[in-house]
Amino acid sequence: MRDLAYDLVILGSGSTAFAAALRAQELGKTAVMTEERTVGGTCVNRGCLPSKNLIEAARLVHDARNPRYPGLSGASLGVDFGTLVRQKDEIIAGYREKKYESLAGGKFRIEKGHARFLDPKTVAVDGKPLTGKAILIATGARPVLPEIEGLSEVPYLTSNLLTSEEDVELKELPRSLLIVGGGYIALELGQMFKRFGSEVTILERSENLLLHGYEPEVGPALREVFEEEGITVLTSATLNSVRRSGDGVIARVEIAGKSREIIAERLLVATGRRPNTAEIGIEKAGVHVGEEGQVLVDEYLRTNVPNVFAAGDVVGREQMSQMATPVGSQDGGIVAHNAFSGDLRSVNHRVVPRAIFIDPPLAVVGMTEAEAVAAGHRCWCRATPMSLVPRAGAIRDTKGFVKMVADAETNEVLGVTLLGNSAPEVIHEAAMALRFRAKVGDFIDLLHVYPTMAEALKIAAISRWKDPAKLSCCAE
Ligand SMILES: Cc1cc2nc3c(=O)[nH]c(=O)nc-3n(C[C@H](O)[C@H](O)[C@H](O)COP(=O)(O)OP(=O)(O)OC[C@H]3O[C@@H](n4cnc5c(N)ncnc54)[C@H](O)[C@@H]3O)c2cc1C
Repeated sequence: MRDLAYDLVILGSGSTAFAAALRAQELGKTAVMTEERTVGGTCVNRGCLPSKNLIEAARLVHDARNPRYPGLSGASLGVDFGTLVRQKDEIIAGYREKKYESLAGGKFRIEKGHARFLDPKTVAVDGKPLTGKAILIATGARPVLPEIEGLSEVPYLTSNLLTSEEDVELKELPRSLLIVGGGYIALELGQMFKRFGSEVTILERSENLLLHGYEPEVGPALREVFEEEGITVLTSATLNSVRRSGDGVIARVEIAGKSREIIAERLLVATGRRPNTAEIGIEKAGVHVGEEGQVLVDEYLRTNVPNVFAAGDVVGREQMSQMATPVGSQDGGIVAHNAFSGDLRSVNHRVVPRAIFIDPPLAVVGMTEAEAVAAGHRCWCRATPMSLVPRAGAIRDTKGFVKMVADAETNEVLGVTLLGNSAPEVIHEAAMALRFRAKVGDFIDLLHVYPTMAEALKIAAISRWKDPAKLSCCAE
């Protein structure tokens, strides 16, 4: 083997890349990853972990100020945002070292710098060629910047604001924050900043929050929660232009045909993320991409070019994929398997549980009612309020609902939406059920620990045949 020839060359060093390199190493192969920013990619450095660290701190502030129990009086926790950011950076640095950087060095290495294809078998990192028997494109996604007049002339934040060791990290709490977009990043960060003390306005183009891909009950329920917390939610709102105003920005917005101006200290553009394929010389490899820039792959994560694979955020929604860390991590391993093990394993994106870490949290798996109907099912679909779940009542946290979507003839459960306490944990029961094609009755037959939020699923299932408001304790 020549010095710079590897079994596997990977563009990117995120969770997808690490999973592929580790599996290649297990199969006795050499691998090299490339990274132009911070090793570990989005999830550890500027996505999942930093956001969840600070969101939890914001929840503590909120809960202290708003105890749910009579007999507890509210207390104001001082918020030192700079210190919170520093502790977040420390946690992230430790995690990055333990779970990413320290793993390199065996049969795989990391080359720092910008990677571009020279041809289908060669990638150059800052001019240095690396050849691979197989190549994996795992360059992730980057924030979408919509065409807004004046945007390039004002300072603005993106979903990169939680990054560490980069200049774009936000280290001071804004007095006011205008967020463009109503997707999961906008909602998670919007609620977090409000709880830390910023005045937050969310501008969403559609007529409701989370309109696409979620049950229609979700948007109005979230709006109510957000407005109760003092977040301004403006829907059917188009941001036409922005300009500077002293230290901040002035946004001209059109809402239901009427134009108005909003002034904020900081502007956060959170209008989605798109696959990172624009600057990797993909045309030199001859790899096909779709309209959103996503790399087109088959069920084995092969591109149209032999021995060039793609996985993670960079494939967008191809093969029913989702832009989420566990999907890339599973699929990175599948790429190494398919490249080197001698047989082919296909991806399985039928059951992908997802969560949005707002409060109350939202978690979903499988189909929505609309998706089930579009797929030809006669649907039994019902939303049951969390107030019917004994634990929710006992701990005075009854916000939200559980919606179960099942085939009315076979009773197979096709999808679940949970909005409420512990939803990101509880959704796994539903995910396992979908994996094994469980029926509504299986949720009833399974004994659930009493009182838990997981009983929400059992109660939703019982509502198929009985009025769940007329149950005693945990009776079926
Ligand atoms: C604010 C935020 C919160 C999130 N929260 C969650 C969550 O709670 N749970 C969850 O599952 N997912 C979450 N995500 C999504 C998650 O971070 C991604 O799905 C995941 O990181 C994708 O992994 P990846 O390996 O495919 O890409 P990435 O982790 O993005 O890695 C790709 C890497 O490639 C590098 N790169 C790109 N182009 C080049 C090039 N030409 N040369 C060299 N290097 C290059 C990039 O710098 C990057 O480091 C969140 C994302 C954001 C932004």
